[in-house]
Amino acid sequence: MPFTRSFRALTVGTVLALLVTLFSVDYTVKRGDTLGNIARDNGVSLAALVEANDISNPNLIRIGQILVIPGEEGEPEVIHVVARGETLGRIAYKYGSSVSALAKRNGITNLNLIRIGQNLIISGTASTPSSGETSGEENTELPTSPAIHSGSHTVGRGESIKSIAADHGVTVEQITRANGIINGVIFAGYSLLLDGPGYVAEGTGKGEGTYTVKTGDRLGDIAAQHGTTISQLSNANNISNPNLIRIGQVLVVPTGSRWVCPVENAQFTNSWGAPRGGGTRWHEGTDLGSYRGAPVYAPTSGNVTFKTGSIGGKQFNLRGDDGVMYIGAHMEDFGKSGRVNAGDVIGYVGSSGNAEGTSPHLHFGMYPNSGDAVNPYPSLITNGCK
Ligand SMILES: [Zn+2]
Repeated sequence: MPFTRSFRALTVGTVLALLVTLFSVDYTVKRGDTLGNIARDNGVSLAALVEANDISNPNLIRIGQILVIPGEEGEPEVIHVVARGETLGRIAYKYGSSVSALAKRNGITNLNLIRIGQNLIISGTASTPSSGETSGEENTELPTSPAIHSGSHTVGRGESIKSIAADHGVTVEQITRANGIINGVIFAGYSLLLDGPGYVAEGTGKGEGTYTVKTGDRLGDIAAQHGTTISQLSNANNISNPNLIRIGQVLVVPTGSRWVCPVENAQFTNSWGAPRGGGTRWHEGTDLGSYRGAPVYAPTSGNVTFKTGSIGGKQFNLRGDDGVMYIGAHMEDFGKSGRVNAGDVIGYVGSSGNAEGTSPHLHFGMYPNSGDAVNPYPSLITNGCK
């Protein structure tokens, strides 16, 4: 699909261009740093660093000094600071790069071993179009708040949100919002962000969706569920008798498309921040348990692409019209791709990738503005998925 590919190239370029601006001026000297170490850690030459910062004596830098990390020969130079829960694969995906390119550029030998706070150089990964070419996409594709994590805390026994907040000088509201906590429930051993944006999806409220009629459905209920009316539904679907709809019938939902639960009647808990891999990683999504082969619905309209990997198995990426990048992993099979409406079947629940041998579930993740992950749990609860 040439359109999708060029669109993606453009948007990756846009993100890169922005990040170059944001990140190329961003290293604060810490205790024990030498200019040589900073240059090496950031993959630039000492001479380039000295020149970029107008330094007269390379042995004289002070703690707290902010250094510009220059790019190479006009090539875009992006520094990504590894955040909690990130994998090399996810970072590569984020910048339109590959795991091997990132590993090579940063001298990483063990692909599973990156540490929080580590600076990764991402360069020459995508073409950087001139700003004029990308102006039309800016509102929907630019990350608005890159890397604003201000730390995390692993919950100990007997701790409460209130005590954690007090210990770290943040508010209960900050912790609750950042982690999508509902009713104040937290779990020992989970890692909580101390601050962050949080997000609750509401659907686009526009465009067309589809709905498949189930046993016991009435047109009035379906209309109410989707923020539309019986007459609008009837018109859109050429229904002459609103009392006569059949199970399995696919209805076009003309207006007010709401956010659709990705897996119907799924079993799930608020597992955001749960330890994974023996506490080396943290869960950044919600696992939606269901039967093998259960349909996976697009929660909102947008563009779907598929990937297959050893970790996520069969995975969908939905670039939603609401500005959120949705991902779903461990699927049994793929469904519709390309342009989709809310409610379209885009895959089937399974246990592929590193979920092999576990009970079938969809690992569901949300990345507003293609930035940091937010907890999908509040969106699932608010939209009646449980
Ligand atoms: Zn998961």
